[in-house]
Amino acid sequence: MSDATIIDGKEFAATLRATVGRQVTRLKEAHGITPGLSVVLVGEDPASQVYVRNKGKSTVEAGMNSRQFDMPATASHAEVLAKVEELNADPAVHGILVQLPLPDQVNETVIINAIDPNKDVDGFHVISTGRLWTGQDSMVPCTPLGCLLMLRHYVGDLAGKSAIVLGRSNIVGKPMASLLIKESCTVTVAHSKTQDLPGECRRADIVIAAVGRPEMVRGDWIKPGATVIDVGINRIERDGKNKLVGDVAFDEVKEVAGAITPVPGGVGPMTIACLLRNTLHATCHQHGVEVPAED
Ligand code: NDP
Repeated sequence: MSDATIIDGKEFAATLRATVGRQVTRLKEAHGITPGLSVVLVGEDPASQVYVRNKGKSTVEAGMNSRQFDMPATASHAEVLAKVEELNADPAVHGILVQLPLPDQVNETVIINAIDPNKDVDGFHVISTGRLWTGQDSMVPCTPLGCLLMLRHYVGDLAGKSAIVLGRSNIVGKPMASLLIKESCTVTVAHSKTQDLPGECRRADIVIAAVGRPEMVRGDWIKPGATVIDVGINRIERDGKNKLVGDVAFDEVKEVAGAITPVPGGVGPMTIACLLRNTLHATCHQHGVEVPAED
């Protein structure tokens, strides 16, 4: 079996960011509206700081307004809630993102559900989740949306395909499963209690790995020719060096799969691109205007 197609998420994301940038230009020209994204960062987690900085940079590059609100790790639940309410009331803010995780004293679920659902560009609000699972127009969480856009591009029509989602978190696994059901895939959702994970995987035409376990998915778990999307981001030490690996044993799996996303450079870059797309869509929805055409 020859090597799999390596899905270039970096290039795919750059194309999507450029498309959104052109749509933002059209929105400004046609309606004088500039989308605005506000990000709330509580605490000083280094990984979160990097994500938030990259989000801000990409937002500005796409022609949108970007604001970042840094709050100390000691911020109270009431203070974070008050910030969300202030942003909800600000008409220049079309998208609100509260960077997770939040410190223990802040109730994550309450904060997420306090965001105006129309500004919920992360798609984590219970109303967004309900809309997604009932097949209504909704904000879609950025990482699963990125996976879906890549799948549509590389696989084409997904109807009738057998898909397995490894992981059932609210931010990746569950929304991913919902999106694949909507595409008429036959979907299996696996988790830590699943028996015979390799056997379940071997039946799938599409494997989405989102477990946070370094290189857990092995080459002999994969049906020849399957498409493998690796969401995992795991920092490991190998040969004395720090390394970023996914949930998939890339070198083994690429010998069997038809197409595979690498880590880094696969799903990761798509997440921010989809955040920009969601912010554009939220802006248009709030102003009651059509989303500008894509080209
Ligand atoms: P969570 O920890 O919230 O969920 C992990 C899921 O994997 C759980 O459902 C858990 O099962 C399941 N799981 C854990 N161990 C096993 C196992 N041995 N066998 C089968 N299932 C298992 O993680 P997230 O969904 O937030 O993230 C998953 C991965 O994706 C992480 O590596 C994260 O860093 C990455 N990620 C990447 C993003 C990107 O932009 N590329 C964005 C978000 C996440 P159970 O429910 O039974 O506990």
